[in-house]
Amino acid sequence: MSDTIKTDVLIIGAGPVGLFAVFELGLLDIKAHLVDILDKVGGQCAELYPEKPIYDIPGIPYITGHELTEALMTQIKPFGATFHLGEMVTTLEKIGEPAFRVRTDAGKTFEAKCVVIAAGGGSFQPKRPPINGIEPYEEKSVFYAVRKMENFRGKKLLIVGGGDSALDWTLSLQPIAKRLTLVHRRDEFRGAPDSVNKMRELVAAGGMDLKIGQVTELEGGGGKLSAVSIKDKAGALSRVEVDAMLPFFGLTMKLGPVADWGIELKDNLIPVDTGKFESNIPGLFAIGDINTYPGKLKLILSGFHEAALMSQQAYHYVYPDKKLVFQYTTSSTSLQKKLGVA
Ligand SMILES: Cc1cc2nc3c(=O)[nH]c(=O)nc-3n(C[C@H](O)[C@H](O)[C@H](O)COP(=O)(O)OP(=O)(O)OC[C@H]3O[C@@H](n4cnc5c(N)ncnc54)[C@H](O)[C@@H]3O)c2cc1C
Repeated sequence: MSDTIKTDVLIIGAGPVGLFAVFELGLLDIKAHLVDILDKVGGQCAELYPEKPIYDIPGIPYITGHELTEALMTQIKPFGATFHLGEMVTTLEKIGEPAFRVRTDAGKTFEAKCVVIAAGGGSFQPKRPPINGIEPYEEKSVFYAVRKMENFRGKKLLIVGGGDSALDWTLSLQPIAKRLTLVHRRDEFRGAPDSVNKMRELVAAGGMDLKIGQVTELEGGGGKLSAVSIKDKAGALSRVEVDAMLPFFGLTMKLGPVADWGIELKDNLIPVDTGKFESNIPGLFAIGDINTYPGKLKLILSGFHEAALMSQQAYHYVYPDKKLVFQYTTSSTSLQKKLGVA
């Protein structure tokens, strides 16, 4: 277990709203760490619609989910926030007035003066494939995410799926696997054509196997997988020896551990006031899709506004003895210095 990380503010969720919160907090000299379950920033924009155009970001007529994420990362660069990706916040406890201790499933502990929950619709959870008896193997030899590629070096791997995740991990893990087999229920793939071509080239060159069919049975014991049975369209069964199986069947959104933190919830959302976007616990804020208040619209622009007002209140907790002076970025040399433009 690592040492406790101390920070002014811990932001749970690095979606567009969590990212913009870094900017608004940074203008007020408030340092932030961010934790996100995903291995990338951008939340729904990056995970669910990276290439779709968004038309209602003020002042930007057209921007894709990926481009908005990139632009936000550029905008917050001056504030040097620290990102902890691929980690889920599991527990949150109040340890002061206000002060919080937060732990992640990767064993990290944070102590923060304020916590900002920007967890959107909750955690993206992998969809479990319909294979009987899969549960005992999960996180032992069945994995829904690749946290560390080295864990798969020299192993017989089976990747299941036909989308970008399945193809990307096929191409990334094939060079280090002992043998890699990709299984998809049909010989057409939803993933990027370039990845599909690269995968087919590897199959043609004998560097990996492609099987069209569905995994129907798992063999092994004590959480250790030894082989799987694959049924093709004609019903014929084949057996493949495997050390690990990685199914990529997409993601659903579940509230996840947020529900266990003793915060008042309404329909799985966190009620907040519209002046400070604070929950029923002082110093614990909720911004973006995760909150609710009369008239709430689940729009990115609403979350940006909420981040600005939340930061004003967080300032009073982080700097209780200082007076907050409202300033514009256009005219304040002090703000421009923080942004590195003056
Ligand atoms: C297909 C689609 C199209 C859309 N189009 C538009 C549009 O045109 N305009 C618009 O304004 N909005 C649009 N939206 C809505 C917009 O994407 C959301 O309003 C926005 O993403 C909310 O941002 P957020 O940062 O609050 O949450 P999210 O983007 O959901 O990010 C929350 C992050 O929190 C993380 N998280 C959750 N729980 C934990 C935990 N316990 N520990 C660590 N991390 C956690 C998640 O992994 C996630 O990355 C669209 C949504 C979809 C699905």
